[in-house]
Amino acid sequence: MTLLAAKLIWAFGCIAWFIIRLPHQRRARKLPVAQRADRTRERVLLAISFCGLFVIPLIYALTDQPRFATYSFRPTLAQLGTAVFAGALALFYRIHRELGRSWSVTLEIRDQHVLVTEGLYRHLRHPMYTAFWLWALAQLLLLPNLIAGPAGLVGFGVLFFGRVGREEQMMLEKFGEEYRGYMARTKRIIPGIY
Ligand code: SAH
Repeated sequence: MTLLAAKLIWAFGCIAWFIIRLPHQRRARKLPVAQRADRTRERVLLAISFCGLFVIPLIYALTDQPRFATYSFRPTLAQLGTAVFAGALALFYRIHRELGRSWSVTLEIRDQHVLVTEGLYRHLRHPMYTAFWLWALAQLLLLPNLIAGPAGLVGFGVLFFGRVGREEQMMLEKFGEEYRGYMARTKRIIPGIY
C-alpha cells in the first residue's frame, strides 16, 4: 500500500460514513423533540470533533501539511487502519438501524422516545461512540502525521468526555429506574471493560 492509497481509503471511509448517516439525518429532522440539552455547548463539541475527524486530516491529505509532523509511512499500519475503518463502518451501519428513531445528532429526547436495550445495546450503552472511536483509531493508523493522525482521537475525545455523562444523566431523568438497571448491567463502549 502507498501513502496515496491510504489517504484515499481514509477519504472513502469518510464518504461512506456520510452516506450511511444521510437517511437517518433526513428522518431525524422531521421527528418531534420533547427535550433538548444546551444546544450551544453541543454545537461547540460537535465542531471540535468535526475538525479533528475531518478538517485537519483533510488538510493533511490534500497538502501534506503540517510537514514538520510527518513521519515515515508504514504499509502494515495502513492495512490495519483499513481493517479498523471497515469494522467501524459496519458497526456504524448496524447501530444506526438498531437505534432507529431514538437517534439524534445533539442530545435530545424524542416525543415518544423508545429506550433501546437490545441488539448491541444489550452489552453497551454507547456502541455508536465505539464506532466513532474506531474511526479515530483508523485515522491514526492510516495517516503518518503526528498532528493529523491523532487529531480524530483528540477531537472525538473532547466530544465523548464532554457529553457521555450528561447523556446518561438525561436518560436517567427520562427513564428513571429502567435506565439505572440498564446501566448496572452494561458498559459504556468496550464490552466487559469500560
Ligand atoms: N450514545 C448512544 C447514542 C448516540 S445518539 C450510542 O453511542 O450508541 C444520541 C442520542 O441517543 C441521545 O440524544 C439520546 O436521546 C439517545 N440515546 C442514547 N442511548 C439510548 C438508548 N439506549 N435508547 C434510546 N435512545 C438512546
